[in-house]
Amino acid sequence: MNPALSVLEQTFGYDSFRGQQHEIIQHVIDGGDAVVLMPTGAGKSLCYQIPSIVRDGTGVVISPLIALMQDQVDALTAVGVRAAFLNSTQDAAEQARVEQAYLAGELDLLYVAPERLSQEQTKRFLSNGRIALFAIDEAHCVSQWGHDFRPDYLALSELADRWPDVPRIALTATATEATHKDITARLQLGRARHFVSDFDRPNIQYRIVSKNEPRKQLLDFIRAEHAGDAGIVYALSRKSVEQTAEFLGSHGVTALAYHAGMDSASRARTQSRFLREDGVVVVATIAFGMGIDKPDVRFVAHIDLPKAVEGYYQETGRAGRDGQPSTAWLTYGLQDVVQQRRMIDSSPGDLAHRRRMSAHLDAMLALCETLECRRVNLLAYFGQTSAPCGNCDTCLDPVTGWDGTVAAQKLLSTVVRLQRERGQRFGAGQLIDILRGKETPRTLQHGHERLATWGIGQELGEQQWRGVVRQLLAKGMLAVNDDGYGTLVTTEASAAVLAGSESVMLRAEPEKATRSRATKAAKKAAADLPESAASLFEQLRVWRAEQAREQSVPAYIVFGDATLRAVAVERPASETDLSTITGIGAKKLESYGAMLLEVVAAHPA
Ligand code: ADP
Ligand code: ZN
Repeated sequence: MNPALSVLEQTFGYDSFRGQQHEIIQHVIDGGDAVVLMPTGAGKSLCYQIPSIVRDGTGVVISPLIALMQDQVDALTAVGVRAAFLNSTQDAAEQARVEQAYLAGELDLLYVAPERLSQEQTKRFLSNGRIALFAIDEAHCVSQWGHDFRPDYLALSELADRWPDVPRIALTATATEATHKDITARLQLGRARHFVSDFDRPNIQYRIVSKNEPRKQLLDFIRAEHAGDAGIVYALSRKSVEQTAEFLGSHGVTALAYHAGMDSASRARTQSRFLREDGVVVVATIAFGMGIDKPDVRFVAHIDLPKAVEGYYQETGRAGRDGQPSTAWLTYGLQDVVQQRRMIDSSPGDLAHRRRMSAHLDAMLALCETLECRRVNLLAYFGQTSAPCGNCDTCLDPVTGWDGTVAAQKLLSTVVRLQRERGQRFGAGQLIDILRGKETPRTLQHGHERLATWGIGQELGEQQWRGVVRQLLAKGMLAVNDDGYGTLVTTEASAAVLAGSESVMLRAEPEKATRSRATKAAKKAAADLPESAASLFEQLRVWRAEQAREQSVPAYIVFGDATLRAVAVERPASETDLSTITGIGAKKLESYGAMLLEVVAAHPA
């Protein structure tokens, strides 16, 4: 049998390769270089793990995720692969043991942090053993274009000079065209074959809702669709992270905070509970989650607008690695746009840098405001064309557009008049009060009831006006002034709207608090097991939790949900039956086979 296939079956317990895995693996086994772009959860790890096992020597994996190396090694050890890591968390004795094992040719895989590989000493040490291949994980970290640049990655270009005959495979889940080019150039992968996968993650339902009370909206979303599920909530500031975790916690959700301001021990504790316990929600700044290989994250929520589509897609990709239905939920509003524009204006970088950030934000806003399929928009960003997906909010609940030209003119002329007649600038709240003719201490104090546009916008409610302002900002027909107060000013594009030579199509603001059809669709898909299998599945999860606790490893290292599901449905009665189930290879059959059969036998069919 083909050696790659036999490792897949015997060791990992899977019966077939996914997507381009087989081609990639064969190419690397044959000594070729590869650049692999594959979305999160598609199965990048096997692409270097199997060649490392099949080829002579040790596969050296460069990964920035020191905190996860232990889990990666545990997962490999659990299936009988000889793996180890070298990083700064180990004491000298442990390091010496690992080094000894490597030199003796006793390792299939060795994980190394990039900063370590840039040391001459490490390179000399590696040269004394036999290297099967280099795998450069999270390869986008080499690119300054990307969102995760790490200077240590630049030193990896030397690998090509020093070991010209050792195949190198660079892998990432996030690369636009520019990043892809950068990876290839900086890592000297000129002769590599490129494998670019379909970036679609069809099991993730994309939804973007307009923001009014973000924490309450989030809680409602979790309660209605993901009670008891593991999830990640992203927020931009530490304060918001802490408040949101506390809010969820006080409403019965097991929620833990994670941000860069916490000491590393508490961060490690949060990460470890997230991986090891069922149903933990982590509320985090973007620092959390890269490379976290937890397959059963059921939702990723953003309560602040992400800064770029690239990062957003990678973050949402952490949901549903096991292929089961999952949700990517984002809430976004006017304040997000104002705040991010302000952040860009006051950022310390040069003009080119600000332009780049601005372009990133524009793409993100276009995604939020689209009337079309979210997925079509997302995939187009990564250069992939697709048809409407049927599994995003705009597909499930089509939004109507409306001609907002007149509304836009009313708003813009208020801005112009304030500026021209009074030399004043205001933020969205005051402009909306003027348009709606609302007498407040602030409108009266400024005598704004004497403006020609006073009260001319009564046909729209406050929420709808906020939608108009937000969308004009998103379209660049209105701008946030760089005075630091978030006041609004016109732009070049405003002139055409005011002159009537350009019309403005806007997204209708949904009525508040209606539960969409999308919500129902997500729920139904998640409850897809027949009743008796569902209760056996729960039983198996309890058993798995005990095993994980005893061995102090994450539950998924014992078995993934997909495997437990298959066991619950098929009710295997013998070890032979068990060995046909996905995720059960020789080693796991030996470790757990008898116990699994007992759990099944004890459960009434
Ligand atoms: P990535 O690194 O691309 O995010 P992983 O390598 O972590 O993805 O794989 C995601 C999940 O899919 C893992 O649980 C892995 O065991 C599983 N997987 C990968 N390849 C296969 C396959 N050919 N058959 C079944 N499951 C697979
Ligand atoms: Zn869609």
